[in-house]
Amino acid sequence: MARYTKALCRLCRREGMKLFLKGQRCLTEKCACSTSRRPYIPGMHHNSPRRKLSEYGKQLREKQKAKRIYGIFERQFRRYFSIANRLPGETGENLLRLLATRLDNVVYEGGFALSRRQARLFVTHGKVLVNGKRINIPSYQVKPGQRISLSESISNNENVLKAISEAQKKKTTPSWFEVNYDKKEILIKNQPTRTDISVPIQEQLIVELYSK
Ligand code: SF4
Repeated sequence: MARYTKALCRLCRREGMKLFLKGQRCLTEKCACSTSRRPYIPGMHHNSPRRKLSEYGKQLREKQKAKRIYGIFERQFRRYFSIANRLPGETGENLLRLLATRLDNVVYEGGFALSRRQARLFVTHGKVLVNGKRINIPSYQVKPGQRISLSESISNNENVLKAISEAQKKKTTPSWFEVNYDKKEILIKNQPTRTDISVPIQEQLIVELYSK
């Protein structure tokens, strides 16, 4: 399975915004996007005046941002788009729904991991159960009625407990699922709609890019 192994903070700096790829570090002054660090684009030409982005440039950046937030490579992202395009309803919303209902994203947004990357690791290491069955595929699509839980071996893991305590402080669990922190379980209530998905992505730009 392909994995991005270079510096994650470069991705945020390239997009000019925090993508929250590193868990707790993203909330501290150590974040490379914070004003005291390097809030400019990476590379040797970061001092050159920024050119105004063309329409195509804006669409491209939006697609890259979405891929980076969810930790997905081009081929898989394209596949998501083609599935979204064939589904009834708006393609952009379908695309975001497919991304939001990935198992690794649900584990992260449910508050059991400090980042999507960490959630993905929990899944690939077989620490996540769906209706009691071990699923080790991060892109697994969760469905309404399913219960997502953590295996015994990880439920008292230091990172899991830290993530839960952060999540409880923030109280921003998406409304399309219910989290029981004592049981370390997430119940999927329904499919998310556009308003349930709070990632800062303008999906229409991605649709325009792929529709050319
Ligand atoms: Fe992005 Fe987090 Fe790095 Fe900040 S610390 S630049 S939000 S990955």
